[in-house]
Amino acid sequence: MSTTADAIRSADAHSAHTYHPLPVVVASAEGAWMTDVEGRRYLDMLAGYSALNFGHGNRRLIDAARSQLERVTLTSRAFHHDRFADFCTELADLCGKEMVLPMNTGAEAVETAVKTARKWGYEVKGVPDGHAKIVVAADNFHGRTTTIISFSTDHDARDHFGPYTPGFEIVPYGDLTALSHAVTENTVAVLLEPIQGEAGVLVPPAGYLSGVRELTRERNVLFMADEIQSGLGRTGKTFACEHEGVVPDVYILGKALGGGVVPVSAVVADRDVLGVFRPGQHGSTFGGNPLACAVALEVVAMLRSGEFQQRATELGDHLHHELGLLVGGGSVTAVRGRGLWAGVDIAPGHGTGREVSERLMDRRVLVKDTHGSTIRLAPPLVISKEDLDWGLDQLRAVLAS
Ligand SMILES: *Cc1c(COP(=O)(O)O)cnc(C)c1O
Repeated sequence: MSTTADAIRSADAHSAHTYHPLPVVVASAEGAWMTDVEGRRYLDMLAGYSALNFGHGNRRLIDAARSQLERVTLTSRAFHHDRFADFCTELADLCGKEMVLPMNTGAEAVETAVKTARKWGYEVKGVPDGHAKIVVAADNFHGRTTTIISFSTDHDARDHFGPYTPGFEIVPYGDLTALSHAVTENTVAVLLEPIQGEAGVLVPPAGYLSGVRELTRERNVLFMADEIQSGLGRTGKTFACEHEGVVPDVYILGKALGGGVVPVSAVVADRDVLGVFRPGQHGSTFGGNPLACAVALEVVAMLRSGEFQQRATELGDHLHHELGLLVGGGSVTAVRGRGLWAGVDIAPGHGTGREVSERLMDRRVLVKDTHGSTIRLAPPLVISKEDLDWGLDQLRAVLAS
């Protein structure tokens, strides 16, 4: 029996089946490549859903983590530590905002944003206590906690996890009129992904994000952008909102902020918003810990140079040009995305997203399917053009067979 089969059987027996992983067992990785327990090498075209924007084992990030590991890793927020102020200052500055509230996972940052918006609504906007509403989009993905799945439209995410948290209004994504009708005087925030990742890399119609910005400003409602997957270089900009010149009131960040090393998330906003919190009203044992801050500080420094955004733009243009050539050829019905990020819809009769992913795995390329017939491509931004082209060759071969 192979090492791979043993490892998978054992994982299936002793872990809750919340995922359906491809049958590959990774043992090590570097850059855009992963090696399995049997020594086979695979091109990583998923990059941990953008948590690995800077690639596996990135030297700068590993060095930052290693030197911090030797000094101090955790203090809790009961005490100050010497990486905290720099992390908050640098991240706020990258976002053009004044304050940072650090957490760990993306879902925690979204929860934090929900609490921020409600508190701001009651204490600053003057919404009657207990009546705050947050408007969200259909087909959203913001995480897996009970409150967040309360405003999901995905049956797998929601069903049999109720009772659900009230206070959310769901409108179609990309529809400004519906959004405008949903906003009332009790609305405290609009929470959106600037590009919907899990939904299949859906880019909203041109003018949508700037329309949301205008509407929320006029109606005294916070615009909270969940940039957990779209942000930090993936689309060719530091934030996907920049493609429409939009600055939201609240950035929600995660995934790549931890450099693929540790979970780091944050809510970033100005003082008039995050200033609503007083000691004891929110927190996290691990949020803003020294190791997280050291890694995230290096991530922020790397984003400052603009080189990763530029790579995402250049390689992304190439990726979308090549994928565009597949549309209409019979096997691909549509391609969406921005930068080094694409959702590819497989035509009926050419296999499900899962089947295409499995055939790509056989050709040593790892991707993830979503919504039945879509595959998602999001390689690390450090991928070489040659490797990207090789990955595209494998995709063309799979679709032609
Ligand atoms: C991944 C993701 C989340 C949740 O992040 P976790 O770290 O898995 O909790 C939230 N929003 C978006 C847009 C995401 O892609």
